[in-house]
Amino acid sequence: MIKVGINGFGVIGRRVAYAISKQDDMELLGIGKTSPDYKAKIGIEKGFNFYVPEDSHKQKFEKSGFSVSGSIDDLINNSDIIVDATPGSLGEMYREKYLNAKTPALFQGGESKDLAEVSFVAQCNYEKSNGKNVVRVVSCNTTGLSRVLSSIDKNHGISKVTSVIARRAVDPDLPKGMVDSVSLDPVSVPSHHGPDVTTILPELDIVTMAIKIPTTHNHVHSLIIDLKNSSTTPDSIIDTLKNTPRVMLVSSKNGVKSTAHTFDLGRELGRDRGDIYESMVWEDSITVIGDRAYMYMAVAQEAIVLPENVDAIRSVLQTAPREESIKKTNDSLCIGGPTS
Ligand code: NAD
Repeated sequence: MIKVGINGFGVIGRRVAYAISKQDDMELLGIGKTSPDYKAKIGIEKGFNFYVPEDSHKQKFEKSGFSVSGSIDDLINNSDIIVDATPGSLGEMYREKYLNAKTPALFQGGESKDLAEVSFVAQCNYEKSNGKNVVRVVSCNTTGLSRVLSSIDKNHGISKVTSVIARRAVDPDLPKGMVDSVSLDPVSVPSHHGPDVTTILPELDIVTMAIKIPTTHNHVHSLIIDLKNSSTTPDSIIDTLKNTPRVMLVSSKNGVKSTAHTFDLGRELGRDRGDIYESMVWEDSITVIGDRAYMYMAVAQEAIVLPENVDAIRSVLQTAPREESIKKTNDSLCIGGPTS
């Protein structure tokens, strides 16, 4: 059993904890957390062990009637691998700790690419993380784009990609108040997403622009893809995406017309927290005019990187080859479709 420690128990860390506890080759050793809030309470009821950064945090936990299992340093030393899901700014500090303890670590997409030796999306570059010490599971948008674009490039050839991203302003659990604006995020072009995709697909010519909109559920991409193969048809792209792991085709013909519907779809599927782990592409948006393809894609920001975190553990520790890991992860999270 691989002993996994998770540092940070927010939007991503909580979901990774759930996903790890579903793997038959992994044991969730414990979770690094700073505050004894309702999330810690429910975690303790589920049998999770919590570790804290400082003595002051330990006192806060004990004052609330929660016991802690040790310090985050203990967790780091006793784990085979750490999944770091702390806020973006802490990566540099924790990286030192992980390296000193000789415990390999996965960081998340909020960290700079330079913090890690490799950026990771399972179906694109699984083997590159084999035996590495520090790996970055890329952000939700980069994961969503990389899956879809790598497959379209492989099957139809891409000469250039443009994506305009309408981004959720905040996550649903953040009480940041009402947002009554469309915020250019950033004003300058490109947004960071396109360059980030090239950490996974270095040959891809991609430009992204992003605006934040007053919603909490899902990002939506308007994708414009210049194709090398001018005989590509919408049906052939649909066929390609049907055969791409972790891509879900949705359709307005079945009533999926907005992010309200993609959000509801996750709950209707009976997934944990209503999470959707796949890149969702609207089948009936896929259009080809000349040598240019157009489509809309939604990304459930809280969930899409979960399977990648699980696969990255097996890749770093070299306990399973790509296809076997993707299959194990998919089966455990009820993700259907192909695995290679
Ligand atoms: P979050 O703020 O929801 O959670 C961060 C957690 O870390 C919290 O539980 C916080 O209490 C804890 N923490 C704070 N300081 C700590 C410390 N010193 N030691 C240990 N834990 C500490 O953040 P998040 O949204 O889960 O994001 C985590 C990472 O995942 C970021 O890099 C982010 O960019 C990336 N990411 C986020 C999303 C998303 O949509 N939220 C999607 C993909 C990737």
